[in-house]
Amino acid sequence: MKNNLLNYDLKTLTEWFAEMGERPFRAKQVMRWMHWGGAADFAEMTDLAKSLRAKLEEHACVGAPALMASQESRDGTRKWLLDVGTGNGVETVFIPESERGTLCISSQVGCALECTFCSTGRQGFNRNLTTAEIVGQLWWANKALGATPKDERVISNVVMMGMGEPLANYDNVVRSLSVMLDDHGYGLSRRRVTVSTSGMVPQMDRLKEDMPVALAVSLHASNDHVRDQIVPLNKKYPLKDLMAACRRYLVKAPRDFVTFEYVMLDGVNDKAEHARELLKLVEDVPCKFNLIPFNPFPHSGYERSSAENIRIFRDILQQAGFVVTVRKTRGDDIDAACGQLAGQVKDKTRRQQKWQQLLVQQ
Ligand code: SAH
Ligand code: SF4
Repeated sequence: MKNNLLNYDLKTLTEWFAEMGERPFRAKQVMRWMHWGGAADFAEMTDLAKSLRAKLEEHACVGAPALMASQESRDGTRKWLLDVGTGNGVETVFIPESERGTLCISSQVGCALECTFCSTGRQGFNRNLTTAEIVGQLWWANKALGATPKDERVISNVVMMGMGEPLANYDNVVRSLSVMLDDHGYGLSRRRVTVSTSGMVPQMDRLKEDMPVALAVSLHASNDHVRDQIVPLNKKYPLKDLMAACRRYLVKAPRDFVTFEYVMLDGVNDKAEHARELLKLVEDVPCKFNLIPFNPFPHSGYERSSAENIRIFRDILQQAGFVVTVRKTRGDDIDAACGQLAGQVKDKTRRQQKWQQLLVQQ
């Protein structure tokens, strides 16, 4: 089988080139052709010697996942469904804003962590995405947007907030981040690449050493009792451990705060007393809050908090001096809003079956 060069970052590509008797700068050239130029064909790489091109043709390929479907929302948000083989598809979302463009990318086919309010969690889990499939989302989006990393920077920010838990696919995610940050790759700044985690503590510690990018933590609750119920991973890494991991991360982080994401679920975690409890919880962790009004999906069993409750909650945090944003719902007419990404998951965990049975019983 041919080697897919989208699976490599500069370091590993240079090593592979060395094995083939090629000099290191060749790896840089090929990286630039692939990522800046969006080249999928070695014949396009005109500054490589013909003999090298022939050698690459024989042993390698540039294989991004194929496009299965694309949609554009009334608000300009775009969503692509990419084919990752054997009936699986993952989603990537581009959110244009006046000052920046954010690409929200997926890291797994489905997710094994089963947060109760998340559509991806309900879909079950199939497998981790490869580096080529993660980087391929950026590669595709640039192509679809008619952009290159070097021109107007249509994509200025990347958030790993699509399908999956990025830190559960650690090695491939870190290698993908390396391509995103590399000047010969997408040249993005560390501060503009965000990993969002539901709180995998050991991997947070590794990430701060290996590839410290901006960190968002899906907090969603102000105490263990509530969080245990909606983010099952909390039973393994409770809030005390999670807060300590955030503090450790900040020592190396490119920004001097962690972003806490907090989904607003009516009657579950959105009361004034929760907001006050939250203030105590984050006492020693420099942070900002991003409140996400719950995005509904069929049979979720949850409702979005009222605008009034969200306002009260936000005010309590703001009055205590915190920066709080309430995430605008973008692209919900094409099911591209947070937590709505479902892709196509050939579930291996029987979770879809479990949820269907529960629904029948109701
Ligand atoms: N697995 C990672 C990243 C993907 S989810 C994580 O959990 O952090 C990106 C964000 O969307 C997370 O904060 C997640 O909790 C939130 N989210 C999930 N389902 C949602 C829904 N239905 N409505 C609003 N936000 C949701
Ligand atoms: Fe997985 Fe994140 Fe959804 Fe939880 S919120 S199920 S960790 S994708």
